[in-house]
Amino acid sequence: MSDSHVYPVMPSIAQKAHADEATYQALYQQSVTDPEGFWREHGQILDWIKPYTKVKHTSFDTGHVDIRWFEDGTLNVAANCIDRHLQDKGDQVALIWEGDDPKDDATLTYKQLHQQVCQFANALKDNGVKKGDVVCLYMPMVMEAAVAMLACARIGAVHTVVFGGFSPEALAGRIIDSNAKVVVTADEGVRGGRAVPLKKNVDEALANSKVTSVNNVLVFKRTGGQVDWHEGRDVWWHEATANASTDCPPEEMNAEDPLFILYTSGSTGTPKGVLHTTGGYLVYAAMTFKYVFDYQDGEVFWCTADVGWITGHSYLIYGPLANGAKTILFEGVPTYPSTARMSEVVDKHQVNILYTAPTAIRALMAKGNEAVEGTTRSSLRIMGSVGEPINPEAWEWYYTTIGNRQSPIVDTWWQTETGGILITPLPGATALKPGSATRPFFGVQPALVDNVGNIVDGAAEGNLVMLDSWPGQMRTVFGDHDRFEQTYFSTFKGMYFTGDGARRDEDGYYWITGRVDDVLNVSGHRMGTAEIESALVAFDKIAEAAIVGVPHDIKGQAIYAYITLNAGEVPSAELHKEVKEWVRKEIGPIATPDFIHWTDALPKTRSGKIMRRILRKIATGDTGSLGDTSTLADPSVVDKLIAEKENVV
Ligand code: ATP
Ligand code: MG
Repeated sequence: MSDSHVYPVMPSIAQKAHADEATYQALYQQSVTDPEGFWREHGQILDWIKPYTKVKHTSFDTGHVDIRWFEDGTLNVAANCIDRHLQDKGDQVALIWEGDDPKDDATLTYKQLHQQVCQFANALKDNGVKKGDVVCLYMPMVMEAAVAMLACARIGAVHTVVFGGFSPEALAGRIIDSNAKVVVTADEGVRGGRAVPLKKNVDEALANSKVTSVNNVLVFKRTGGQVDWHEGRDVWWHEATANASTDCPPEEMNAEDPLFILYTSGSTGTPKGVLHTTGGYLVYAAMTFKYVFDYQDGEVFWCTADVGWITGHSYLIYGPLANGAKTILFEGVPTYPSTARMSEVVDKHQVNILYTAPTAIRALMAKGNEAVEGTTRSSLRIMGSVGEPINPEAWEWYYTTIGNRQSPIVDTWWQTETGGILITPLPGATALKPGSATRPFFGVQPALVDNVGNIVDGAAEGNLVMLDSWPGQMRTVFGDHDRFEQTYFSTFKGMYFTGDGARRDEDGYYWITGRVDDVLNVSGHRMGTAEIESALVAFDKIAEAAIVGVPHDIKGQAIYAYITLNAGEVPSAELHKEVKEWVRKEIGPIATPDFIHWTDALPKTRSGKIMRRILRKIATGDTGSLGDTSTLADPSVVDKLIAEKENVV
């Protein structure tokens, strides 16, 4: 990966930013030399009912992992996201809803949001939900999804949001694991012009005899489509809220009371029920939102993630609302009804900050200028990326074609487990290098270790770990603290292991190389999948690529490349040769793919990440035990890939 392109901080951004380079350096230094003092001060970004006197109580020691922040303080998340803004911003827009159909949109002011959250909170209470109970949300991207999350927070119920694209089996698994008492859903969702039978899926999930915890299902009417009704169990949202009081005092919660459980994407194995608590999580979401996106009062922020992902929790709802921001909730997909939809939404709502994922960027990039046709995107000031390493090629395209070379890109590295962004540029402080997530956020102490846990210094490559806790860190795997310790704290003693590999350059910038399970070892050379994939995507006929290693007698591992070509391109022996030569030239002979598997569909999680675990099994012919495929967006691609494998050379 070349470090040759450096984009200096834009003076116009630095001038009014919350942090310029000097501020970043000063705050970062303080945050790691005196974490207590730093977070004692910055915990004040929230309103506390009972102020905390204790700040940090954390241990990463295997066998005694214990993470607590602000542990004697009390607060309410919904009050911080809504009530405290009512006086100054009551009539300001809080949520902007953009429907799947471009004709549909709506807004809620902070005052209106307050009213709806209180009413639904009372409806939940009427349906037997008490403080500490788990409520499962299986919702489309409508305002009511945000209302339901905040209503849970208001009464101290723990929400677990399950992405509306998941199957009844995946939903049932999460309900069983979380022991949810109530499910909140809609009759149908709408995405990309198609109806999604949410209520029907809930009915199927609840028909599973192992699901025994659910007493009620609250159903929001989105489309008016036909649904089956279970008297005594099912309740319409509009009926439950019709006469509900608009007054619902926020429950006083301890900082360490659970706020939500969220299952990880399932890229690497069975999803884990990640538990986040109240105080530290919100402090961290609010702080990162303010600094990473340099949010300025009155700006419009659009995060394209679904509420079913951690990004949708921290940067669609909690971070923005804690800052009194205007945040967009988009029901549709970035490519419907046309490739220009994302750009059109930016223009329509005059979006200032856009936060999306490499998978969306690559999909648009494959269509070239169609993605921006008829739009200016002149309102954009800052853009972000999250979810996977962003290939420099995709970064440049995003920067130039979407952003008109006017908006810095924050490539934010983080995980469901981390609650908020850990490694990222700050727009007014950090010079950018395409493909690098750059530097740690305040209070974050990353390190690289070799395979036996020795810390490596300077410009180096290794396993990415965190040496100390930050307020947004997950507290446990729900119901399985042992799995929490095993998964994150047993590989390297006394450190939080991220599962990702990274390289640090001479400027101290971090480059995520991919998951360490995916690292290749070819003739003794260790290579991240991200690097080879980036080289492939930089080839002008290639839209997307995924690399896996397959066993090889001499080299240890051979490189197997799955490649999707741009629309209109066709595989050929000549192209095969050209692609190999290209990689040889870009990285070196060692990285040349041994096998090329042309395909137009890579297996992806519902959040758009390539599932290399499955690709590895297909490449090695080990298709008898593909493991958990329930989080795949389209399970049928697996059979297609297996069939295609016959022709791979
Ligand atoms: P599971 O843990 O169930 O396998 P997952 O890791 O995909 O699923 P998430 O928590 O949604 O679930 O994703 C976090 C991971 O996504 C990170 O560990 C990293 O591999 C990748 N990632 C996120 N943001 C970035 C980024 N900016 N650059 C590189 N990789 C990223
Ligand atoms: Mg993970």
